[in-house]
Amino acid sequence: MAKSPESEHPIKAYGYAARDTSGVLSPFTFSRRATGDKDVRFKILYCGICHSDLHFAKNEWGMSTYPILPGHEIVGVVTEVGNKVEKFKVGDNVGVGCLVGSCGSCQSCANDLESYCPKQILTYGFPYHDGTYTYGGYSDHMVADEHFVLRWPENLPLDSGAPLLCAGITTYSPLRYFGLDKPGMKVGVVGLGGLGHVAVKFAKAFGAEVTVLSTSPAKKQEALEGLKADHFIVSKDPEQMQSATNSLDGIIDTVSASHPIEPLLSVLKPAGKLVFVGVPEKPIEISTYSLIMGRKIVTGSATGGLKETQEMLDFAAKHGVTADIELIPMDYVNTAMDRVLKSDVRYRFVIDVANTLKAP
Ligand code: NAP
Ligand code: ZN
Ligand code: ZN
Repeated sequence: MAKSPESEHPIKAYGYAARDTSGVLSPFTFSRRATGDKDVRFKILYCGICHSDLHFAKNEWGMSTYPILPGHEIVGVVTEVGNKVEKFKVGDNVGVGCLVGSCGSCQSCANDLESYCPKQILTYGFPYHDGTYTYGGYSDHMVADEHFVLRWPENLPLDSGAPLLCAGITTYSPLRYFGLDKPGMKVGVVGLGGLGHVAVKFAKAFGAEVTVLSTSPAKKQEALEGLKADHFIVSKDPEQMQSATNSLDGIIDTVSASHPIEPLLSVLKPAGKLVFVGVPEKPIEISTYSLIMGRKIVTGSATGGLKETQEMLDFAAKHGVTADIELIPMDYVNTAMDRVLKSDVRYRFVIDVANTLKAP
């Protein structure tokens, strides 16, 4: 018989997990493996709440295995390292993002693109190499292979920097890969949530001219003044969309729910790129005509490799890019998730894990 989450490993651990598709999280005790030769063990300080955590907790992508313990924007302090660990020592601040494993030998892994490895192991809800399921950052501590652990830059805040581990790399990577990181590029960001607001900050740091396309008119002032976006368009307003026809080199679409795509294609220049990073439950519908008329490109992007994630953290530290956060106690997590669903967060919830997660 398979062992229970509490007894499969030697080290006791606790956190908050969802048990079924209601997605409601409650206290959960489990266990974590002993520190292996290449492992880094760390106490969790902060963990961001990504919309993917909601998708997973409610099994919206049909791939969740319960209990599911979310959290992949994890910042902590090292408490133990394995004999063969080279990059870290006890007391270092570290981060873990969406990945804790990959095959290490495929073409993607060989090119530092672990997020495209067909055998990637996500930080939570995935079988690890030893067959036991991974548990994420809504928990007291964690252990991960050092390859998947990020060095935390000295001047990067631990709390408002945490969301960079998913929201940050997921927007930084496509901006770079699709050439939208050049001064003067006209970049659109669809959906001003956790990913979207960080996308605006990175695009501005690259020198782009940034247009926010949002369904929330109330976010206009903050977008223009707080986030320093150059333009703000209410995407549901056909007149405002019309005024932006053929104006953008590329769009990063961060929307978490189904929404009309054709209007977004119309605001792209010829050969413009629409890059999906948001993952709505349902497939999208596009008429080929709107692609043909202008040779427009529709594509997608998944987080980023470990090397690029480190580069992104260092860039963020240098350019002062952090998330705008609301720091919350652990027992607020269900309310926070309800508010994320209503787009009622400016712009990322971060759980103050070390100070508020109570031992069972
Ligand atoms: P979030 O904070 O909830 O932001 C999503 C934003 O989308 C909302 O703030 C809202 O912005 C807009 N939106 C929500 N519902 C909408 C609707 N029905 N129609 C139009 N716009 C709507 O979520 P997030 O954490 O940024 O994550 C966004 C998506 O990216 C999720 O699907 C998540 O799973 C996915 N994701 C993907 C990757 C990847 O590797 N590709 C990594 C992380 C996350 P406005 O109010 O401005 O309209
Ligand atoms: Zn995420
Ligand atoms: Zn691989």
